[in-house]
Amino acid sequence: MQVRSKIFVDGKWIEPLDRSSIDVVSPATEEVVARIPKTGPEDADRAIEAARHAFDEGAWPTLSVAERIAALEPVRKHLERNASEIAAGVAAQMGFPSSDAALPLVQASVNLFQEYIDVAANLPMREVRSDVQGTSLIVREPVGVVVAIVPFNGPLPTAVNKIVPALLAGCTTVLKPPLEAPLDCYGLADAIAEAELPSGVANVLPGDGTVGERLVAHPDVDMVTFTGSGAIGSRIGAVCGESLRKVCLELGGKSAAIVLEDADLAEAAPFLGAGIFRGSGQACIALSRVLAPRSRYEEVVQTLVEQAASYTAHATPLISSRQRDRVQELVDSAVKEGARLVTGGRRPPDRPRGWYFEPTVLADVDNAMRIAREEVFGPVVAILPYEDEEDAVRIANDSDYGLHGAVFTRDAIRGLEIASRIRTGTFAINGYGTRPSPPFGGWKKSGLGTEHGPEGMGEFLQYKSIAVPEDLAAGDRLLA
Ligand code: NAP
Repeated sequence: MQVRSKIFVDGKWIEPLDRSSIDVVSPATEEVVARIPKTGPEDADRAIEAARHAFDEGAWPTLSVAERIAALEPVRKHLERNASEIAAGVAAQMGFPSSDAALPLVQASVNLFQEYIDVAANLPMREVRSDVQGTSLIVREPVGVVVAIVPFNGPLPTAVNKIVPALLAGCTTVLKPPLEAPLDCYGLADAIAEAELPSGVANVLPGDGTVGERLVAHPDVDMVTFTGSGAIGSRIGAVCGESLRKVCLELGGKSAAIVLEDADLAEAAPFLGAGIFRGSGQACIALSRVLAPRSRYEEVVQTLVEQAASYTAHATPLISSRQRDRVQELVDSAVKEGARLVTGGRRPPDRPRGWYFEPTVLADVDNAMRIAREEVFGPVVAILPYEDEEDAVRIANDSDYGLHGAVFTRDAIRGLEIASRIRTGTFAINGYGTRPSPPFGGWKKSGLGTEHGPEGMGEFLQYKSIAVPEDLAAGDRLLA
């Protein structure tokens, strides 16, 4: 069992002022697998003060990008070297059967880290621009002190998505991992500690909502970047709006997969299955609605039933009993509202321990039902019939969310036309998932702001326009 009693603040592992601790429980066995400090608002204050001091008084924001890359490269290497150990923590906190099952998540985080380093190395930080009134130097400068708050599903990749571009941009950071799944972020803190970044540049402390609230509302914070639920996200957005500070929100989804009449269902099946059953549906981009043409409706239902069966034996649990109760409640409400429960729909009878839920297929779902409107965050797919292409596009767009989506068709050009009509930040033709370099972000209630690529790093930079005399602009010395 991992026992951590310290937080990483101001370049050191220190005892939190709040000495209480929290047990991390395996969702698979319900046994305690780790103990971490709970921390309190005063600990949040210390972390912010350290980050503020490092930004205002330290050299970090004034270093060149190349110098910051050199300082961060050892952090990436540490993660790479310790991937198996970190994966063991992920497996323990998520209830995965083995650390091998969690290794791809850690490796993806290492790759994402490298992607941001490559982006930073090529991002122009200065530009000279002339117009009728003269010449200006445009400089990109770091936003300042950044608070990063991450959810239980994928804390490490989410943390990398936030603090790596922020640090490369010259910001200083305070990362708050989730209490239910803090271990991989502790691995990241170990990497930061070993790399000996300047004191206060990157701070990590777990904490509950009270700690999160203090971090978000602290007057010394310049920006908050949050990934999590819409309920907490809109609250954070309100606090940041009140104090007019920058905020990025990566929130939930209710993404639709449109199966066209000409779809190759054998090809589509693994994507549709992974889209909702991998990780027991605990993915923001999950394809939780599948829209099927009437002519092939039962075929699509059957495809998802087969996929559900293939995930049953090695299904992973939900994060908590509270979350499993919520999934059960939503499935029950769907049946009450008239949906047809085709398979699953309950806690597996052969698993008396752990917060498992059967891979579930609900057919004959209407888009007005709660199961089609609310994010379930469980292994539950809602299959909706549509009349024609217009109807499919209308149903897909009839959602508060706009994070992801997919179309399955043998005609890729037709797929591209559908993609252009769907109001979501990401989309896939004959596939599922997002990639590390294109911009990633939600439309509508799925969020504000962008991650990945130069656009993601750009969130942590702000422009300064300096009007310069013409003689200073001669040559390219302003760009040096
Ligand atoms: P959550 O309950 O909103 O929690 C997210 C984080 O916010 C946790 O670290 C949580 O701390 C913290 N928090 C709780 N209350 C807070 C407050 N009042 N102020 C500041 N922080 C507070 O979300 P979750 O259940 O962990 O994650 C699932 C959600 O995340 C889903 O909706 C999913 O779609 C979304 N998500 C979105 C993306 C994306 O990129 N769009 C990616 C992954 C997940 P504690 O948990 O420690 O209390």
